[in-house]
Amino acid sequence: MAAQLIEGKPIALEIRAEVARRVQAFKAKAGRVPGLTVVLVGEDPASQVYVRNKGILTREAGMISDEIRLPEQTSQADLLNVVRRLNADPAVDGILVQMPLPRQIDTQTVIEAIDPAKDVDGLHPVNAGKLAQGIAALTPCTPKGCVIMLEKAGVEIAGANALVIGRSILVGRPMAALLIGASATVTVAHSKSRALPELCKRADIVVAAVGRPEMVRGEWLGRHATVIDVGINRVPGAEPGKTRLVGDVHFASASEVVRAITPVPGGVGLMTTACLLQNTLQAACWRAGVEI
Ligand code: NDP
Repeated sequence: MAAQLIEGKPIALEIRAEVARRVQAFKAKAGRVPGLTVVLVGEDPASQVYVRNKGILTREAGMISDEIRLPEQTSQADLLNVVRRLNADPAVDGILVQMPLPRQIDTQTVIEAIDPAKDVDGLHPVNAGKLAQGIAALTPCTPKGCVIMLEKAGVEIAGANALVIGRSILVGRPMAALLIGASATVTVAHSKSRALPELCKRADIVVAAVGRPEMVRGEWLGRHATVIDVGINRVPGAEPGKTRLVGDVHFASASEVVRAITPVPGGVGLMTTACLLQNTLQAACWRAGVEI
């Protein structure tokens, strides 16, 4: 493997330790600790693991973690009532409604019901709009984590040709906005884009957020490229009945070519929760008018 490996674990640990220190500084000034409430609707096993993990890490950082579990058949009106109650609760700084939501609930309506000041996922149009305009806002955790990884890997973002593959509101679009904010020259590719391998070849930074296992091949990439693989895809493993996680980038071929690359697992995924903690503390500081 020729590439530098950009691992998420040490960076995420550093961020979490820093958040824990700053939580104590917040407590000294505000007389309370920040609080994050995660709402989980239904029994999706992956979501249950994420939510449990978020709770553990939130408490580890010295913040209050609360979980509200609602049954799969919860109506949209009932979920919106829960969100409104959390909006009005002064002890709650961050509200995270775990996605995906059951079919009877309109995700966008729920996102827009969350108080933008408590929207630690950064998905509310007010926060997305601020990000697009370069105004300080709560920013989606995964792309925020990707930028931190690029910085930690010593990548010069300003002036770089950056390619973001994917345009979701969760990853691709905010990623593009963050890279524009950091003065990269940004191309956004999606399912209708033509000549993706050529776009990849030109890029100094490639962020793959597609949801297609190992789609981006080593031969598409240049030697100067830094690759951030956001994808998390479960595919059949070597042994019958077993599965394994792979990214949107074919790691074996890409890591022989590029300058630096994130692994899957062990890369971006670990950064997302660390950035959620950062956002919760940020929301608490803005809400309390406290600078730390
Ligand atoms: P979405 O399904 O919402 O978006 C996927 C994007 O990829 C769309 O914009 C789609 O284009 C584009 N796309 C699909 N096929 C192609 C193709 N052949 N060529 C180019 N673009 C294509 O996914 P998310 O953004 O939510 O997630 C992307 C991946 O990142 C998933 O694997 C997900 O599991 C992972 N993820 C990881 C996180 C982490 O913490 N590491 C957090 C969030 C997501 P179009 O808009 O035209 O349909």
